[in-house]
Amino acid sequence: MALNDDCLFCKIIKGDIPALKVWEDAHALAFLDINPLARGHTLVIPRDHVAGVHELTPDQAGALGRAVTEVTARVQKALGAPASSIGINNGEDAGQEVPHVHVHVVPRASGDGVGPFHALFQGHAPDVGKDELAKIQAQIRDA
Ligand code: 5GP
Ligand code: ZN
Repeated sequence: MALNDDCLFCKIIKGDIPALKVWEDAHALAFLDINPLARGHTLVIPRDHVAGVHELTPDQAGALGRAVTEVTARVQKALGAPASSIGINNGEDAGQEVPHVHVHVVPRASGDGVGPFHALFQGHAPDVGKDELAKIQAQIRDA
């Protein structure tokens, strides 16, 4: 496993820093967020030190995806939560504070008042017309 000596989450993987682990396998680890957004807020991380989602190998991404599926089922069952918000702050400009990929699994309940992912962007979303959408489609498709 490729770890980074300066990385907080690598230190948790190594056991140098304690964490409340809730699930693990050979490729991923899940532990409670120290500053939870809701009861049961869990972080799922790959055992390899990789900063961004777009830098994961297909195998690493697959293993992380399977871990998120497993952990989400357990978190929702344990907390009696009917839903969850699952998100990644991918890169410093998107609010990523720890540069080791981590998936937030946050239990949700009806009436918790938080809103969907879209609420994050309220008042900041651009007005994009059909022509521009088509242009962006081509840009991404051809990238
Ligand atoms: P980010 O903002 O990078 O997406 O999320 C980092 C998360 O890591 C935050 O939700 C923060 O509360 C959590 N966190 C930061 N330091 C620690 C720590 O030492 N232990 C645990 N368990 N969580 C941490
Ligand atoms: Zn790391």
